[in-house]
Formats: sequence, C-alpha cells, structure tokens
Amino acid sequence: MTQTSRLTLDLDALAANHAVLKAAAGGTEIAPAVKADAYGLGAGLVADRLWAEGARTFYVARLSEGVALRRALGDRSATIHLLDGVTPGSAPTIEAAGLVPVLNSLPQVEAWNAHARGRTLDAVLHVDTGMNRLGLRLEEAQVLVGAMDRLKFLNITQVMSHLACASEPDHPLNARQLARFAEAAALFPNARHSLANSAGIFLGGDYHFDQCRPGISLYGGGPLDAPDARIKTVVTLEASILQTRVVPRGESIGYGATFTATDTTRIAIVAVGYADGVPRAAHPKGKVWFDGARRPILGRVSMDLLAVDVTDCDAARPGAMMQIIGPDLPLDEAAAAAGTTAYELLTRIAPRAERVVKSR
Ligand SMILES: *Cc1c(COP(=O)(O)O)cnc(C)c1O
Repeated sequence: MTQTSRLTLDLDALAANHAVLKAAAGGTEIAPAVKADAYGLGAGLVADRLWAEGARTFYVARLSEGVALRRALGDRSATIHLLDGVTPGSAPTIEAAGLVPVLNSLPQVEAWNAHARGRTLDAVLHVDTGMNRLGLRLEEAQVLVGAMDRLKFLNITQVMSHLACASEPDHPLNARQLARFAEAAALFPNARHSLANSAGIFLGGDYHFDQCRPGISLYGGGPLDAPDARIKTVVTLEASILQTRVVPRGESIGYGATFTATDTTRIAIVAVGYADGVPRAAHPKGKVWFDGARRPILGRVSMDLLAVDVTDCDAARPGAMMQIIGPDLPLDEAAAAAGTTAYELLTRIAPRAERVVKSR
C-alpha cells in the first residue's frame, strides 16, 4: 500500500440521491448546486454525472467556478447560474463563458442591462425574502417591475430566493419566506420560480415552484442536518493505521496532553489529520469506524495524525484502514461530533487523499 488515505466518491449514490430528490420534489426540475467544486467532490465530475441523470441547470458561486464548469461541460448546452452575480468588471467574462448571472441588487441589475445594451441577455433575479444575505428587497423588486421598459435589454428567465431555516421545518421564518416569495414570483409571472434547497424540498409541495436547487443532499448530507435513510453515502474517507502502541495508565496522548489514560490503553495512530479535513475540534467527541464499532479519537487531532482507542481490538494493525466518514460513520454524525455541519466538513476535505471514483 503506497497511499495512506483514500477518498472514495460513489457517483451511483450521487445519481440515486438525485432521483430521490427529484421524486421528493414531485418531478420539478432539479438544478444542482455545484458551487465550491461541488462541495469539494469535484464540480466537473459531479456535473458530468448529473447531466447524464437529466440535470440541465447548475448553480455556482464564483465566476472562476462558472468558467471552469463551462469548460468541463464542453459543448453540452447546460445553463450555469452564477450566484455571485455581476461583480464590477465581470460582465464580459460572464458573457464569454455563457453564464447566466443571478442579479442580487439594483446596481447589479443596472450593470447587466448596461452590458447587454443593444442585445437581450438572460438573467436570474434574486429576491431576498428574509435571510438578509443577497437579493433585492421585495419593495425593490416591485419598483423594478415598473421600470422593466427601461431595462429592456434584460430577459428575466427566472426569479429565485433562498430559505434561511429550511432544515428546521417548524421554524416560522419558512412560511414567512414562502409568502414573500409567492409575492415576488407573481411580479414576474412569465419567469420560472425557484425557492427550495435540499431541506426546502422536504418542506412540501408549496415550496417546489418550477425548480429546486439541492446541494448537500445530493452529496450525502441529510436534509435536516442529520443522517437520513433516504440519502445514500457518496463520500467515504478512510485512512490507514501507521502504528499501534500501548499507553500506560497516567500517560497522556498528543499535543497539549489533553487526554490522559485512566487505564492501560492500546491506541492506533492513523494517517489523517486536520490537513486532510478532519477538524481539530473532532476531539473530544469524535469517533472513527473500525472493525465493526465506533471508536473514540483520543487526544487532539494533529495536522497529519490522530489517535484512536483500539483496546481489545486485534484487527488494529499497521496498514489496516479506518473509516473516518462513510456508510458506517455518516457525514452528519462526524460533523456534529466536531461541532460543525456536513457542509463545512465536505468543503474542507483536502486533496491529499488518493481519490477513487466508483461508477457503474
Ligand atoms: C448553496 C445553495 C443551495 C444549495 O443548498 P443545500 O442546502 O446544500 O441544498 C441552494 N441555493 C442557494 C442560493 C445556495 O447558495
């Protein structure tokens, strides 16, 4: 064995999750969020497979992501929506790469209209409905409708908004955002309308409109930030044992000597650390899966290494692979143990591990 850590991407599981989300969305268009390199999985790889599964519209955040995705998709006529929108100086590159900007503010609307002058260019309009992140206020959208004869170079193909609390189905902000979005959508009746992310899909049919934009649940995260039986594991991170040792009672393990053995403890030193994306905060609650059980991480996670309790586990030998994230240690559970979310955990997995792609 030459590689001590392995990241397996199961593209068939990705496709299965796509089908689950499509069904849950009542057949509405699924437009995958492939921003941040498809949450670290590889946007080209992911978009290629989801195109084969029928996806035709993709969302990226940064202009550089959009340009790279257009190149990766080659001559396939995918629609790529750019969430950052028209930032200063970006309009020519957006057009050259054939991206559709999401217009987030009145200045962005003006900038894209000015760039389009003499032609008609497509755009998505983002209306903020309560998150107070990007997007026009509803009142601004109302003013905009009255000004569309002046903004004649814009073709608003779609109106979208984003839910702040979709992973908490009972949160009152969901219904408030839905009501405001219905108002925004009615202002542009000929455009397509999109509100739901992964969690939003499971809020019910009222939230589906014409298009849903899942990210995390395509990649294996549950829609409620917890493992979900309907969603399959896409990412498996494994790392091998470099060494085992016996720590006598009273001795400590790792930096800062934060863990002291209260008994004779056999530990495995595993070739994975925070430089691979295992959060330093995975200590003290974090676990890994090995030989049929969850086993606690002992002491601080180092840059390249962590220690695991393997007392009474004969299978723990140098070269054996431990599962850090995967079917037996779900993404959401590993994230929660480290005080973070599946989103942050996935996007921080570093390129050091050997990548293996599983596909039919
Ligand atoms: C990231 C993002 C999504 C996808 O959200 P998930 O929670 O990962 O499903 C959808 N819409 C917008 C605007 C986003 O920024």
